[in-house]
Amino acid sequence: MQVNKEPRLIDSHCHIDFAEFDHDRPQVLLRAEQIGVSKIIVPSVTQDSWANTIQICSQSNSLELALGLHPVFIDQHQPQHLVELDDLIDAHSPIAVGEIGLDYYLKDLDRDKQTIFFTKQLIIAKRQALPVIIHNRKAHDECIRILANIGVNGGIVHAFNGSIQQAHKYIEMGFYLGFGGMLTYERSTKLRALLKAIPLEHIVLETDAPDMVVSQHRGTRNSPEYLPYILDAVAKCLDSTREEVARVTTQNVQSLFELKP
Ligand SMILES: [Zn+2]
Repeated sequence: MQVNKEPRLIDSHCHIDFAEFDHDRPQVLLRAEQIGVSKIIVPSVTQDSWANTIQICSQSNSLELALGLHPVFIDQHQPQHLVELDDLIDAHSPIAVGEIGLDYYLKDLDRDKQTIFFTKQLIIAKRQALPVIIHNRKAHDECIRILANIGVNGGIVHAFNGSIQQAHKYIEMGFYLGFGGMLTYERSTKLRALLKAIPLEHIVLETDAPDMVVSQHRGTRNSPEYLPYILDAVAKCLDSTREEVARVTTQNVQSLFELKP
C-alpha cells in the first residue's frame, strides 16, 4: 500500500540542545520526524555546553553532532578549548566543525580574538578532514579571505544573507548556503531575490531553532517541526515543487556530510 508521506527533509541547523527544549525535547523530535524531518544537524556553541550536546545527540539516530566555538560567545573561549575540541573530534566523530565564524554585527565582540579562533578551528577542520558550519554577520569578505587562505573541505554558510557575488565565492569553495525562517516573512524581498539567484544544488534548509521563528508562529519558540514552512517558502519563491526542493536540498546535506540516505 502506498503511504502518503511528506517529503523527507533535513534541518541543517538546529540548536535542539538548548535549554528552551529541555521540557519537551523528545516530543518535539517525534513531531518533527512525523512530518518528514528525518535528520537534524546540531551545531554546538561553547566548551561548557559540549558535553550536553554530545549526550543529547547520542540519544537519537536523527541527530547529527557538530562541535565548535561560536563567535558570539567569544569572551568565553580559551586557547585550551581548541585542544579539547581536537580531542573531542577524535573521541566522538562529529560530522562537522561548527558553529564557527565571524560576527561584526554585534559591536562589542573582540574581532581579533574572533579571527584567531575562527582560523584555528578551520585548521582543525582541515586536519580532521571535516566540513565546517559557519555563522557570519557583516563579515563575508573577511570570512571568504580566511577560507581561501586556509583551504577547507567546504561546508554550510548558515542563514546566508550576503551578496550574490559573495554567494558565488562560497560556492566555488565547496559551500552550501543555508536559508531559513526569514523567507516566510513578507518583508524579506531582498532575501528572496538572493535565493532566486543561487542554484538549488547549493541551497540547504534550516530552522536555526529556537531562534528565527517562521512567520506562521511568530512570537513563539522556533522548532524543527516548522521546517515544512521553509520548504513551502523556497518552493514558492523558486516556482518549483515541494518535492523537488525537498529532494535536492536533502541530497545536498547528505552529500556534504556523507550521511546515509
Ligand atoms: Zn546557530
